[in-house]
Amino acid sequence: MKKEEKIIIVGAGLCGTLLAVRLAQRGFKVALYEKRWDMRKKQIDAGRSINLALSNRGLMALESAGLKEKVMDNCIPMRGRMIHPLGKKPFLSPYSGRPEDYINSVSRPGLNMTLLDAAEGYENIEMKFDADVVDIDLKSASIQYQDAQGTMHTDEGQLIIGTDGAGSVVRRSMMKYTSELLFNYSQDFLRHGYKELSILPTSEGGWQLEKEVLHIWPRGDFMVIALPNLDGSFTLTMFHPYDTEIGFNKLDTKEKIAEFFETYYPTLLPYIPHLQEEYAENPVGNLGTIKCYPWQAFGKGLLMGDAAHAIVPFYGQGMNSSLEDVRVFDEILEQQGTNWDKVFTLFQDARKKNTDAIADLAIDNFYEMRDYVDDMAFIRKRKLEMQLEQEFPDYYSKYSLVTFRPELSYDQAMRRGRLQDKLLLSLCKNENIEELPLQEVYNQVRKIEI
Ligand SMILES: Cc1cc2nc3c(=O)[nH]c(=O)nc-3n(C[C@H](O)[C@H](O)[C@H](O)COP(=O)(O)OP(=O)(O)OC[C@H]3O[C@@H](n4cnc5c(N)ncnc54)[C@H](O)[C@@H]3O)c2cc1C
Repeated sequence: MKKEEKIIIVGAGLCGTLLAVRLAQRGFKVALYEKRWDMRKKQIDAGRSINLALSNRGLMALESAGLKEKVMDNCIPMRGRMIHPLGKKPFLSPYSGRPEDYINSVSRPGLNMTLLDAAEGYENIEMKFDADVVDIDLKSASIQYQDAQGTMHTDEGQLIIGTDGAGSVVRRSMMKYTSELLFNYSQDFLRHGYKELSILPTSEGGWQLEKEVLHIWPRGDFMVIALPNLDGSFTLTMFHPYDTEIGFNKLDTKEKIAEFFETYYPTLLPYIPHLQEEYAENPVGNLGTIKCYPWQAFGKGLLMGDAAHAIVPFYGQGMNSSLEDVRVFDEILEQQGTNWDKVFTLFQDARKKNTDAIADLAIDNFYEMRDYVDDMAFIRKRKLEMQLEQEFPDYYSKYSLVTFRPELSYDQAMRRGRLQDKLLLSLCKNENIEELPLQEVYNQVRKIEI
């Protein structure tokens, strides 16, 4: 492919915009299509702040495009989880025993706008907003899209890359060739959904709760989490079942909502005086895992990010893995040049088992965050992991392997992490674990081979 020939990217979210920047930096001509309006010109949801946990894998990908520092300027570090058990005092569970290991709260629209601004700076990127791609011919790499007035247009490139999220239209176009491509697809919804609420800033613009942590109110089958925003507010997310006696489907009157929060989240309630209005206004979103394979078709079309592998948000890795896709793709492109069929095949081979691994880990963490963060054996294990990380610099817990070691693949992190967890949890069932010398625990962990 000559560099003046065009790559069409469908979806100017986090993954697609970073990909456009990286391809433009390599000299390719890119057409970036986005069905929504340009968020830099029109604010979404009347100032509602949605944030995400950005960690080392996402940062490494941003660094490869020279954007890490710019993004970090607008992040708030989160050094651990502040657990708020029902009826007991809150306590901090650090993410790692190393002070340099922390995750970051970043505004989703803020990050997307930083990436769009960066893309704007490249003459070889053409951005089209209000352009809803409705049909794709993969074999000719052409698209049909509808503008804001409802008029249909067509465009054609050399390649089409679908970064159009969990409901991907590019993925749907691959399904037209199910038997030719041997296309596999699965979608697993949790019986839980999510709803966003918020804690407002103090009158001085400060934070009403401790700022540099991720707060969790675990309640067995459900929980609320809170991430800090730069303006002093916190975005709360209720992860909650649909169907149970106190599920979303049953919390249908102001009285029931008030009673539910008084019973399960009494210490949170004083911070959310506007609960009823937000509860009524904000929608409930679904949570699910999407897996598919192959991700490429005919050396012409490719899926990346959530379009290829949407996961539940409980490891804080969906965006991070989508940004990591761009870094890995870019490295393969560097090695292979523009033999696209080969680049696409190597990319999907490199990524598939890793995105499957993080999908499974995210489901595991759903149960861990809900059910175990205030369980005694689990608390002893976290304490032991902290001590190991402080004492032995080459020890990384499963969470640290996944979150802070981007040079390891998700699959490697998962396999080592699970074996470590099994060993440590069996030791921590014993209440007197503190009597066991740390060196002995470390020696046992060191013997683990993957
Ligand atoms: C409640 C929740 C919390 C989360 N928290 C975290 C977290 O803390 N950390 C983390 O790493 N991840 C988190 N995630 C996951 C993260 O949001 C996704 O993994 C990430 O947004 C994927 O990026 P993407 O660019 O692949 O897709 P998206 O962000 O979905 O972007 C897709 C883009 O394509 C556009 N588009 C779609 N269809 C079309 C079309 N037909 N034509 C043109 N454009 C189209 C969309 O408008 C959008 O702009 C969370 C997810 C949820 C639901």
